[in-house]
Formats: sequence, structure tokens, C-alpha cells
Amino acid sequence: GQCITHCPVGALRERDDVMTVYDALADPDVTTIVQIAPSVRTAWGDHWGLKGDEATVGRLVAALRPMGFDYIVNTDFSADLTIMEEGSELLRHLPKSQAGGYPMFTSCCPGWVRFVKSHYPELVDDVSTSKSPQQMFGAIVKSYYAEYLGLDPHKIFSLSIMPCVAKKAEYAYPTMRDACGDPDVDCVLTVREVERMLRADHVDVRALGEEPFDEPLGIGTGAGVIFGATGGVMEAALRTAHYLVTGKAPAADMFSDVRGLRGWKEATFDLAGTKLRVAVASGLANADALCKAVVAGEVSYDFVEVMACPGGCVGGGGQPIHDGEELAGARGKALYGLDRVSKYRNSYENPDIVRCYQEYLGEPLSERAEELLHTDQHGWLMPSEWIAAAEAAPQA
Ligand code: SF4
Repeated sequence: GQCITHCPVGALRERDDVMTVYDALADPDVTTIVQIAPSVRTAWGDHWGLKGDEATVGRLVAALRPMGFDYIVNTDFSADLTIMEEGSELLRHLPKSQAGGYPMFTSCCPGWVRFVKSHYPELVDDVSTSKSPQQMFGAIVKSYYAEYLGLDPHKIFSLSIMPCVAKKAEYAYPTMRDACGDPDVDCVLTVREVERMLRADHVDVRALGEEPFDEPLGIGTGAGVIFGATGGVMEAALRTAHYLVTGKAPAADMFSDVRGLRGWKEATFDLAGTKLRVAVASGLANADALCKAVVAGEVSYDFVEVMACPGGCVGGGGQPIHDGEELAGARGKALYGLDRVSKYRNSYENPDIVRCYQEYLGEPLSERAEELLHTDQHGWLMPSEWIAAAEAAPQA
């Protein structure tokens, strides 16, 4: 990638991977598969002044097709997949937290994972091993999807469009690779980079209609959509955990107490007779305060969601920037609006998810699911850990 300079004195640079994507698009031997994250749909049309109901994800799909992408798929699908794995993991972890141990923490935000590894290493064992939706999709694209389409996985260029700059670090971790050593994801573009590409290609987004995602991994649920807002991962996971425990669909919005922009939210729910204590933090100052209280034994929870950006991914560092305006609240509301009108609102109802488990993965936490969709949070080192390891190594 190259760097774009925004800083007036050139001291700060923003990484730019647009040319890497153009190179992949120009390579006739490569199949490009691009996934679009949930919160991208709340912001991608800002440059053109498109309102929420105009800047739909279907219109973004229509804008990307003529640029030459071979397949365009929906990260909401893999948000649902994350919930199937993480909801099952939560039920496995529950006896530990109920017996006084640490809660299980979410793992889909790489900004948070870096923070907990560097500031609270004693909590890392309790961070979910489920990969983030971006990484799960990458792993599925180069296995199940490649098999389905009859493609050589080594010739797939797996791209994701994210609201996030930390996702560019996440995909490069040595743990985010398949058994051959191929990365799950080959490149990440922020919403700002995609906007630059659309402008460079003179795509007239206002003139476009809507187009569907490619199948079979195009379907997402309302639970997948709300991943982009603070509290959304928690709510999505609770809907599926409720179903897994009771066998019944949760009542609509029964877990809505975890919504809203407060930086540290708490709620207690009854899960088939078990008192489930949950907390949601967004913004790293809130995450720090929460972790400190957990470690000091001042608070006890079973499940904690943390997002590094205030308001969650809708307020992510890769979204369009409007100086002086905080848009995470309005963008989050847009996602809950999409959830309300979704055909399927629970991850376990997603027909593509059902099919993927039936045809390929077996069941959540199966051997194949563990191999493809889970990671070792200790499997890469923070710089402070390299230094400690180097200092501890015997001198030659
Ligand atoms: Fe990225 Fe921010 Fe979302 Fe974390 S909360 S995944 S850092 S956009």
C-alpha cells in the first residue's frame, strides 16, 4: 500500500491500499471477492450527500460491480456466523463466570483485543476465541465458498470494506491464516478509500439502482446488521443464546436494554432460570474502567462486549469524517431501523447459515469450525511482549 498525507506537516500518514486492489482487479488469473461490513451502509454515500434511504447497501453493490469485482458478499452473514460460534462459546463459559470467574469478553474488535493484550493480559484467556466477522468470512471464502464455486483458493483475492483502520492490522496477524499459510483476508479498504475509488472511476452513484449480493453467502439477519452499533453484538448473541438454551425464539426486542450510547451499560436477563449479568463498553476509557473494576472484583458479569470506538463501528476510524460532528448515534439508529424490518432477526434463522453448517461446518464449535473460525488470542505478541521475550532469551 501507499500512504496519503493529510497532516499539514506530513508527520502523520494514512495507509492507502487502493493500488493493491486495482492490481488485483487487473490480474486475469485472480478472482476478487469483496465483503461489505454492516456499518458501511450507514456512511458510504456521505460524499454524494445521499440520505440513509438512498445510500443503501444494494446501491453500493451496484456501484462496485462495474469496477470489476467478481463476487460481492455480505459481512452480515459472517456476523451471524460469529454469533453462532460466540453464543455457543458463551454457554460453555457460563459455569466459570457463575462460579466467580471472569466473564467472557467479545473478540470482534481488533482495537479492543490489542488493548486487553497490552493492558490486562490476565483477562486474555477469557476473550472469546471466535474470529471477527471479517476474518470468519475470509476463512469461509477460501474454503467452503471456493469449493462451492470450483475456484482455486490460492487464486482468490479476498477483500473487505470496513469502517475501521484497525482491521488492516487484524488481517495481517500470523494467526489469521489457513493451514497452507494463506491469509483469510488479502486486503482491507476503509469506507474513505472506497469513496476515493468510486470518485476516481467516475461512478455516478446517484444514477444507480440497487443490486443484490451474490449467493450463497449474501443473506444477513437483523442480528448481523446491529453488529455495527455498541451493544449490537451483545444483543445478537443473547438472541441466539436464548434460542440455544430454550429452543424458542426470543420475544422481539427482549434484550434492547443494552442499546444506546452510554459508554458503560449493564443489564441482567433471565436465561431459562440463570441470572445472566452482562455489560457493554464502548470507547477505550470506558473499557479501561470496566476491566479495572472486573480485575478488582468490584463488578461481576457473565458476558462483556467491548468496542474501541465510542458508539461502536458506526463511529469507526475508517468512516467518512465530518469535522465537529459526532454521527455514531444517528448511524446506530439507522442499523436498528434495518434490524426492525429484516426478514430474519436472529442469526440461527439465517438460511445461508443453516446451509453452511449442514453442508460444511457441522455444528458450532465442531472440529472444522474451530480450525477455520477460531483463533489463539495468545498466538501473536504485542511489542512489549517481544521485548520481554527477547530480554528473557539466553544471550549468544
Ligand atoms: Fe474497528 Fe472501532 Fe469497530 Fe473496533 S469499534 S472494530 S476499532 S471500527
